[in-house]
Amino acid sequence: MVIQTPRVVILGGGLAGVRIALWLSRHQAPEECIVTLVDRASEHVYPPVLYEVATAFNPFEREAVGKVLHETAAVPFSRIFDGSRVVFLQRSVERIVSATRTVHFTNGETLPAEILVFALGSQLAIFGVPGVDTNAFSIKTLPEAAELRHHLVRQFLRYRSASRNRQERAFCVAVVGGGSAGVELAAEFAVFLRRLAWLHRVDPDVCRVFLFEAGDTILRECPPQLRERGLARLRTLGVQLLPRESVCAVGPDHLSCSGGMFLQTDTIVWLAGIRTHDVLLRSGLPVHARGGLYADHTLAVRGFPDIFAAGDCVYAADPQTGRIVPDVAYAAVQQGAVVAQNILRKLRGQPLISYIDHPRPTYTTVGGKFALVHLPPWQFAGRVGWTVKQLADLRYLFSVLPNDVAFRAWGKSVRVRVAND
Ligand SMILES: Cc1cc2nc3c(=O)[nH]c(=O)nc-3n(C[C@H](O)[C@H](O)[C@H](O)COP(=O)(O)OP(=O)(O)OC[C@H]3O[C@@H](n4cnc5c(N)ncnc54)[C@H](O)[C@@H]3O)c2cc1C
Repeated sequence: MVIQTPRVVILGGGLAGVRIALWLSRHQAPEECIVTLVDRASEHVYPPVLYEVATAFNPFEREAVGKVLHETAAVPFSRIFDGSRVVFLQRSVERIVSATRTVHFTNGETLPAEILVFALGSQLAIFGVPGVDTNAFSIKTLPEAAELRHHLVRQFLRYRSASRNRQERAFCVAVVGGGSAGVELAAEFAVFLRRLAWLHRVDPDVCRVFLFEAGDTILRECPPQLRERGLARLRTLGVQLLPRESVCAVGPDHLSCSGGMFLQTDTIVWLAGIRTHDVLLRSGLPVHARGGLYADHTLAVRGFPDIFAAGDCVYAADPQTGRIVPDVAYAAVQQGAVVAQNILRKLRGQPLISYIDHPRPTYTTVGGKFALVHLPPWQFAGRVGWTVKQLADLRYLFSVLPNDVAFRAWGKSVRVRVAND
């Protein structure tokens, strides 16, 4: 009788998926399982630095600068899995049949799995606001971040040519969503536009950045003291803060809010929230409308002991506090480590472990070399925070790449980011 080696299929090579694949590859015995990681892209993306790609100051559009910034945010899967036992498959997942754990790809192929892991991340939530799909930009993926930058520069050059004749209006950029990602982008836009204006001999004061937030608080995820430092920094950079302004319609060159505010804009970026990935909705599994797959404390999907979920794909509570785990990078990486251990435990017939949501560090860059860092119980703001954030990025690169490659990539990226500021 031939005993087949079980196949573990990981859907999604983001922060959670890559962590699971690498952990399994390092800790499994060769015959224990075959690990296949599927992603639609050929590169693993590190979203916390995508705002740098969207605001790269590259006056002469030098290819080298763009290339290094690209490398900062994305690493080819071939490099990550070089020398490991992970099989990488570049395919786009269409749906899965949960009863048989069969993955269906958009090209019509299928792939069966003994153990399946959902790590597909999330999708942008537009809350039914008309016009967002067609008129607003996002930076959820690397091509989107690059496209946003091209659009912004194009719009600025168009504005400059027009304003040679008519100086009557400001150049306006609107960012919708006052969480960390929105704050990072709005702050960096303010820095970027001033430099663009300087380069093209336009008065920098005509550039305006608006940050819209439907809730009461911008930077709600930061502790109050750190939040105050962040808000003060945003004001210094000239970002106009608009809490309690709920955007209800987006047009090609304007947006309006439910309170009556109307703004003529040159670029709109939507970072107002995330929702459950369409693949999950199509797969007959228990899903929370905005939060991903319902999972138990071991991160196995409820009612499906051979299907796990991690990162933005999972809706799980901390068993100690009962709090729902937020969709952030650190949680995705930690959940990935727990899912990987539980897969091996399952294959070995051992009891599974629980995911405990330990206090997480948060890092938010607020324009140039200024960052807010909360490393419980410590808080750092300003240049010290920025330095700590660079070290956190280095730590992440070390976790997915060989040490020398990680260090070289980080060194290059810090040089370009410093020039970018
Ligand atoms: C712009 C931005 C900035 C952020 N900044 C921060 C930050 O500063 N701090 C922080 O803690 N968190 C931040 N986050 C959130 C954080 O990045 C996410 O919580 C984290 O990436 C989730 O990890 P994940 O593995 O679940 O999904 P992801 O990292 O999103 O990975 C999902 C993977 O699935 C692949 N995929 C998706 N659909 C398919 C499909 N149909 N077929 C095949 N493959 C598919 C994608 O290509 C991707 O590689 C940010 C997010 C964004 C978008």
